[in-house]
Amino acid sequence: MPEICFDVRRLAGAHFPVAVIGGGQAGLSVSHCLHERGIEHVVVEANRVGHEWRSRRWDSFCLVTPNWQCRLPGYPYRGDDPDGFMVRDEIVRYLEDYVAHFRPPLVEGVSVTRVRRSATGTYELATTAGDFTAEQVVVATGPYHRPKIPRAAERLPGEIEQVHSSAYRSPGQLPDGAVLVVGTGQSGCQIAEDLHLAGRQVHLAVGSAPRVARFYRGRDCVAWLDEMGHYTRSIDEFDDAGAVRMRVNHYVTGRDGGRDIDLRAFAKDGMRLYGRLTSIDGPALEFADDLKVNLDHADAVAEGIKDAIDAHVADRGIDAPAEPRYTPVWEPDGQAGELDLDAAGVTSVVWATGFARDHRWIEIPAFDGRGYPMHWRGVTSVPGLYFLGLPWQHSWGSGRFEAVGRDAEFIAGHIDAGRRLADVCGTLTGAPTRVAAAVPVG
Ligand SMILES: Cc1cc2nc3c(=O)[nH]c(=O)nc-3n(C[C@H](O)[C@H](O)[C@H](O)COP(=O)(O)OP(=O)(O)OC[C@H]3O[C@@H](n4cnc5c(N)ncnc54)[C@H](O)[C@@H]3O)c2cc1C
Repeated sequence: MPEICFDVRRLAGAHFPVAVIGGGQAGLSVSHCLHERGIEHVVVEANRVGHEWRSRRWDSFCLVTPNWQCRLPGYPYRGDDPDGFMVRDEIVRYLEDYVAHFRPPLVEGVSVTRVRRSATGTYELATTAGDFTAEQVVVATGPYHRPKIPRAAERLPGEIEQVHSSAYRSPGQLPDGAVLVVGTGQSGCQIAEDLHLAGRQVHLAVGSAPRVARFYRGRDCVAWLDEMGHYTRSIDEFDDAGAVRMRVNHYVTGRDGGRDIDLRAFAKDGMRLYGRLTSIDGPALEFADDLKVNLDHADAVAEGIKDAIDAHVADRGIDAPAEPRYTPVWEPDGQAGELDLDAAGVTSVVWATGFARDHRWIEIPAFDGRGYPMHWRGVTSVPGLYFLGLPWQHSWGSGRFEAVGRDAEFIAGHIDAGRRLADVCGTLTGAPTRVAAAVPVG
């Protein structure tokens, strides 16, 4: 249990140089960077530190990225398994230990319900514990706000139990019977595996997410990709930055020390695979005819990554053992495009269909038409307003443990510069105040 480091009774009516909204790894990282610079601030967290990991992940959850990538500012992973994958409770403990390590000015259990900017440029924050103001604001509320479930779900029979991936905990939570999992991003694949390993009959609607092998030529593929510079490549290098930001992550798992997720092997072992779910009419479901395309695409991406690793190994003359390539162990010949839930004994559906963003409580014109914050490296065009923890905010590791610290350093540097500008000019915008204007020039 982290110590509460800021007395909530001092919040209402207070004024801070900086307010950080959200006490996940992003909010804590920027807090550490501000702390190092001696910049006074407050971190307001709606729940408890580590809430997302603690409350929105399943019981068998573990990281997909190796522990050595957990390098929060001033607090890199210190355990004895850098190449392993922390399980859910270890991740929560890592964040709690981070709090104990530098004791940020953190308030837990307080939601920021509205942010506005006054005519003079001061930020006005309404919270469940009263209003306060700040000169600068960092929004670190994570990328995954509202569970996304397609409206077609309303057409399922009432007796089918439905749960979003963020509310899935374990196979035992679902009624006896077969389960339909919709979606094959990281969550969908791992939940399907969780259910499959527990002996449940799983029906899986497969989407277009790519996959990556866990290990290749003696190392974790993440380690190869890191060495090859993929995690430091800036979003600015891509012509299609908007599309890159929307990319779905490759599926793979860290479970039991890490392994591939091979949907074909699951199918060989009895899991029923389908293409994308296209229609629901009571118990009658229809799927697109794209299962083969989707499986082939996922394999092609995984093999393409191996090609790139081979080229890197050859280029650098690295001594890495050769490894045979993947051969598909199952092909979707004659797979059904329909599923009758009653006939198949399906009693529950897990929607692994992602999340929607929700920044409507920020009443500041800093967003594009889709509600995505307009920013460069988290810095917006509104002086003093920053975002942190967005996927691909600046690089592939943004929005994850890998790069959130680098992004936090950058934002903290900007905040510091803003304060110095205000010291000289009187305001964050650089518009001269009466005092600054009175100073003779030259
Ligand atoms: C299923 C899944 C698996 C993942 N696996 C990995 C992995 O293996 N490795 C990896 O590096 N990353 C992984 N990630 C990505 C990323 O690390 C997590 O999403 C992480 O939780 C992001 O941290 P954050 O601090 O940016 O946001 P969050 O952890 O979402 O924290 C935001 C905090 O803000 C608080 N908050 C929200 N709104 C308000 C408000 N209005 N007022 C006050 N507080 C508010 C929330 O309570 C929350 O605690 C995974 C993500 C998901 C969904």
